[in-house]
Amino acid sequence: MKYLDEFNDPELAKKLFADIDRVTTKRWAIMEVCGGQTHAIIRNGIDQLLNDKIELIHGPGCPVCVTPLGGIDKALAIASLPDVIFCSFGDMIRVPGSNRDLFQVRSEGGDVRIVYSPLDAVKLAEENPDKEVVFFAIGFETTAPANAMSVHQAKQRGITNFSVLVSHVLVPPAIEAIVDAEDSRVDGFLAAGHVCSIMGTWQYGPLVDKHQVPIVVTGFEPLDVLEGIRRVVIQLEEGRAELENAYPRVVSEEGNVHAQTLVAEVFEVCDRMWRGIGEIPQSGWRLAPAYREFDAELRFDVGAIDSPESELCRSGEVLQGFIKPNECEAFGKECTPRKPLGATMVSSEGACAAYYQYRRLDGIEVEVSAGG
Ligand code: SF4
Repeated sequence: MKYLDEFNDPELAKKLFADIDRVTTKRWAIMEVCGGQTHAIIRNGIDQLLNDKIELIHGPGCPVCVTPLGGIDKALAIASLPDVIFCSFGDMIRVPGSNRDLFQVRSEGGDVRIVYSPLDAVKLAEENPDKEVVFFAIGFETTAPANAMSVHQAKQRGITNFSVLVSHVLVPPAIEAIVDAEDSRVDGFLAAGHVCSIMGTWQYGPLVDKHQVPIVVTGFEPLDVLEGIRRVVIQLEEGRAELENAYPRVVSEEGNVHAQTLVAEVFEVCDRMWRGIGEIPQSGWRLAPAYREFDAELRFDVGAIDSPESELCRSGEVLQGFIKPNECEAFGKECTPRKPLGATMVSSEGACAAYYQYRRLDGIEVEVSAGG
């Protein structure tokens, strides 16, 4: 299949591995920012096939994972209210809050629905004028345009029983926070191609210049990831720090200007808590004053919600590359995808969940009997 098979070609992969080996002379730590890339790396064993001088650090690029526990508890509280239809993409339905998930709220009688677009939630609000319809608007810059469009349309069409619970996060401030951290180990970054398809690459040049760190915009197929790694390693070995676009079939410098204009009208930048990391200044979007009437947090008073994280969880250390997921004592024991304790086990794109899916049997000897 075009654009899939051609980016999975084993012969080309071998050549890229050989190219990387040829240019690598020192130890380098490279962070892939996006959870989709983490999944591609672990699923295809890219980290295990790379030479041992290159370490891949799995960054905070899974939007479901970095949504704070308190935000999920707020969603659960709103979804439990009578006369509320709570809409979400399917990936949030099983994400546990402090003591239950949206699926459980539905089994207890809450009206929780999976939608495929926030515009479906606007339509539901139109069809159910006696209900309050709330959409859980989470994610990186990639999902923001559709969420902004839903609020924009609701306002234009005078739909007053629609609102959004917003927990949007932004990639560039997260990269900046990681580079700025006193004990940062990251030498170079693979930036998330889908985020850049919306926002372009223009935001990353100043980061490269300010921090003198290579950033290569990278796609998600195995060869995309390898090409991104190859380019970062070449820059590091040559002592360069530049912004490169290794995903030009999707990403341009300016990005989707119409989407950026809409997002800038509906949202404004704010400080945001990242699960597993903490608060990062100016790293999120919330509704701009002209659209604040659609803010579910203001519309529904669910009281103060205190959601402490598990003391066992070391996802902050995983996200900064200090430990690998299977070095956490709770990995696969107290913490599994069905009962996640922390950010990085919550969704399949999280580093701990990827290790659980593909690596949890590493080091365990399996006996195979002759009788099969
Ligand atoms: S395995 Fe679970 S408890 Fe350990 S760091 Fe990952 S998410 Fe946290």
